[in-house]
Amino acid sequence: MNDIHGLAVHAAGAQLLPYKYDAGELKPNEVEIKISHCGVCHSDVHLIDNDWGVSKYPFIPGHEIIGTVIAMGSDVRDRTVGQRVGVGWQADSCGICEWCLQGDEHLCAQSQPTCVGRNGGFAEKVRVNSRFAIPVPDALDSENASPLLCGGITVYSPLRNHGVRPSSRVGVIGIGGLGHMGIQFARAFGAEVTAFSTTKDKEDEARQLGAHHFVNTRDTGALKKVAGGFDFLLSTVSADQDWASYINALRPKGTLCIVGVPPSGIQLQAFPLISGQRAVSGSPTGSPRDLHEMLNVAARHKVKAITERFAMSKANDAVARVKKNQVRYRAVLAN
Ligand code: NAP
Ligand code: ZN
Repeated sequence: MNDIHGLAVHAAGAQLLPYKYDAGELKPNEVEIKISHCGVCHSDVHLIDNDWGVSKYPFIPGHEIIGTVIAMGSDVRDRTVGQRVGVGWQADSCGICEWCLQGDEHLCAQSQPTCVGRNGGFAEKVRVNSRFAIPVPDALDSENASPLLCGGITVYSPLRNHGVRPSSRVGVIGIGGLGHMGIQFARAFGAEVTAFSTTKDKEDEARQLGAHHFVNTRDTGALKKVAGGFDFLLSTVSADQDWASYINALRPKGTLCIVGVPPSGIQLQAFPLISGQRAVSGSPTGSPRDLHEMLNVAARHKVKAITERFAMSKANDAVARVKKNQVRYRAVLAN
């Protein structure tokens, strides 16, 4: 038996309970990782609650993993035992489709998420295809870096792919796990950065993280005041928003990019898009290539998550704080 112990959820919205599964033989392309840290992403909470209808119980959540390679399958040549690696949302892909072959494995139709139909990182160990175990630069501390593996790449990729540059005016909507890293990366791209938040007392920290401006979205009329002000808006919020006002906050040719998952989708009027040649887009996490690049950028520009550390056994407390929007700014479980 190759038992792996962790904390699993057995039904929608239930508490995490001690759990073990037989991981079987190590596959030729897999590495086994001894987990030191795992961030608690809001997507874990959506999966625990089955908000997206894709959860398969029981399962171990967790997809912001850092640990050490302790075993390698017979075909693995690109990692070494003892190497520190990180794993994000994706654990495997087909490796042979158009998207995998051009380095966009995150767009593969056979993509395997780390904790959907598999068991993730709220555990002592995890196994993934070695291509998805990304070496972590020495300059990064494991606790502060683990949230980069999902939250960090999810905000880094759209900034990069939409060509954000020093002349760009960027707004980050929702200053939680993703948003607080989004401010730092947008600043690293050289942009003028505005934080949009429902939490007034995040203003000082948002400015310390690099925001030039702060908009309290609970203030009536706040969004009207910034109409026509942004080249790129990145929404990390998992709640319904006043999308029309955010579209109006875009400059001509501006883009609103959605990475948070609002429950009712996004309602749009055509004219503000047509007349200002504006766009709305979405963005998933990112490929292994982008993860390598993002971790190196984080190391060079000192981008890191502000964390609240919990012992792995206290994962239920961490999840409860995420649900109440109390975490500043990412809960990380430590073994
Ligand atoms: P989080 O840490 O809980 O942060 C979300 C932030 O949204 C909160 O801190 C809060 O910021 C704001 N917010 C919460 N409730 C709100 C409300 N009712 N109205 C307006 N703002 C509200 O969550 P996260 O881990 O950053 O994840 C955010 C979302 O991104 C989730 O839906 C998650 O599933 C999704 N996600 C997507 C991808 C992807 O691939 N696209 C990857 C990872 C995560 P303020 O206090 O500043 O208002
Ligand atoms: Zn995530």
